[in-house]
Amino acid sequence: MRSHLCGEINQTLDGQSVSLCGWVDRRRDLGGLIFIGLRDHAGIVQVVVDPQCPAFADAQRLRNEYCVRIVGTVRMRPESQWNESMATGKIEVVVDEVELLNASAPIPLLMTDEDGEEIRLRYRYLDLRRERMQKNMRIRAKLNQSIHRTLDSQGFLEIETPILTKATPEGARDYLVPSRVHPGKFFALPQSPQLFKQLLMMAGMDRYYQIARCFRDEDLRADRQPEFTQLDMELSFVDEAGVQEVAENLIRAVFNDVLQVELPSPFPRMTWKDALQDFGSDKPDLRYPMRLHSVDEHVGHVEFRVFSGPARAAGQRVAVLRVPGGAVFSRKQIDEYTEFVARYGAKGLAWIKVNDTEAGLEGLQSPIAKFLDDKAWNGIAVQTAVESGDLLFFGAGDWQQTSIFMGHLLVRCGQDLELADAGWQPLWITDFPMFEWDEDNGRYTAMHHPFTAPQADTADDLRSAPAETLSKGYDMVLNGAEIGGGSIRIHKTEMQQTVFELLGISKDEADAKFGFLLEALRYGCPPHGGIAFGLDRIAALMAGEASIRDVIAFPKTTTAQCPLTDAPSEIDAEQLDELSIEVTSSTQ
Ligand code: ASP
Repeated sequence: MRSHLCGEINQTLDGQSVSLCGWVDRRRDLGGLIFIGLRDHAGIVQVVVDPQCPAFADAQRLRNEYCVRIVGTVRMRPESQWNESMATGKIEVVVDEVELLNASAPIPLLMTDEDGEEIRLRYRYLDLRRERMQKNMRIRAKLNQSIHRTLDSQGFLEIETPILTKATPEGARDYLVPSRVHPGKFFALPQSPQLFKQLLMMAGMDRYYQIARCFRDEDLRADRQPEFTQLDMELSFVDEAGVQEVAENLIRAVFNDVLQVELPSPFPRMTWKDALQDFGSDKPDLRYPMRLHSVDEHVGHVEFRVFSGPARAAGQRVAVLRVPGGAVFSRKQIDEYTEFVARYGAKGLAWIKVNDTEAGLEGLQSPIAKFLDDKAWNGIAVQTAVESGDLLFFGAGDWQQTSIFMGHLLVRCGQDLELADAGWQPLWITDFPMFEWDEDNGRYTAMHHPFTAPQADTADDLRSAPAETLSKGYDMVLNGAEIGGGSIRIHKTEMQQTVFELLGISKDEADAKFGFLLEALRYGCPPHGGIAFGLDRIAALMAGEASIRDVIAFPKTTTAQCPLTDAPSEIDAEQLDELSIEVTSSTQ
């Protein structure tokens, strides 16, 4: 039907006859001439219809998003009409024939970034026609291809694992599928292929990968999807460094393939503890030129209990964030930051505007300056390398909670003042604690998942100090986003049973849920480990999109619904009967 793609037409085709297919991006009637922006997946080309052309009347009837085929001749535009911002901006196509392939009903959305998300998702097939979304889908496809090529060349086998399966503990609720043939029984959709990929290592597959759909019925969070895509990998006979090397090489290769970007080699590494101490986050965004400073030693002696208390107490801290140029913040802005950190549990936020570093305490503007002496201030000033015109925020209290709210503040101030460097800042976070203490339920939970190996040689070592033991887990972070996480796994039955025990999973429960894994561990399981990458997040970062929904063809809303198909929907009584299910409540 077509000789070229719309986006391909350029000056080298001057004088040639072409036939093009696409959609009317817009139509303008100007001084007797009709100009049409004709769009296909490759781009937009300007098409001109002259009043003398036999197709003129047909062209007048065209409206936005009509699907058409045109035949015409390429010609150079006069230089004064060149549009340098368009790939096809120096030429136009003078139409000889217009063939209407299909009319369109009036378009229910603007087809611009102004459209709201609900309507974009309701008419996703129209939204996806836009150049931005076409580009996003192409980036994602390229990313997938690059992954397949790279991993195939490194001896990885692509193996599919079941979708109808048993619960995998990744910490979310399961999506369940009722079994018709086994009334009252349910499959769970996989939260990840974790157990299957471990079984594949036990099966001698050595190196596995899969671009896998995962399902997690989580409470609503802005940028989570109930179904999302992971690049899932597992390798035998490796330690942490072995997995990290392969994973890093892969990410470097795909960034090079898709964006022609060179990422550093090797990626920097930071322990979980240092990441919290210095950046207040387990996914530090190293693009911001800011970090947290621990000033305990400088404020331990002051009379201000809000500082001296935490500065002297074990498990607490006083952390300072220097905001370059932050002295411009108004009282109202500072109050907003105080409210912002309160969301993360902060009881208050002290601040100092540094008007003149030369003037010592006199050069400070702050409700707390009066509590400081020269010794304290000099120590703080030197440690934070503060300059006139900066603002210092102080957080004090429990080490972890203070670190975290100050970390959120760091990113928020960095965003507000647009302090991020351009470019890519990947790093590894290592040495996570094995367990977190769950106050509400009075028990440990796994920081990664229960199959992660501890940095302990024996089960007894782990039992003797569970709270202090670190794990063999690691996360890959890029520009403040956790893009991947994994671990070396437990490959011995006794250690696995001990971890279940410490997590408060009884032997019966472990047998019921993971009996098959515990059994498989008994048959010569090799040491193994792996990682899973959030592919939606990586694609979004590559495409420069803030939301992963913009790189998923048919995403769900933040309330886990699909406005296009209207899923989830009610099921008729007969089908429910077949599944032996009775609905006791419904929102409709
Ligand atoms: N299954 C893990 C996850 O989804 C990743 C891994 O440990 O490989 O987070």
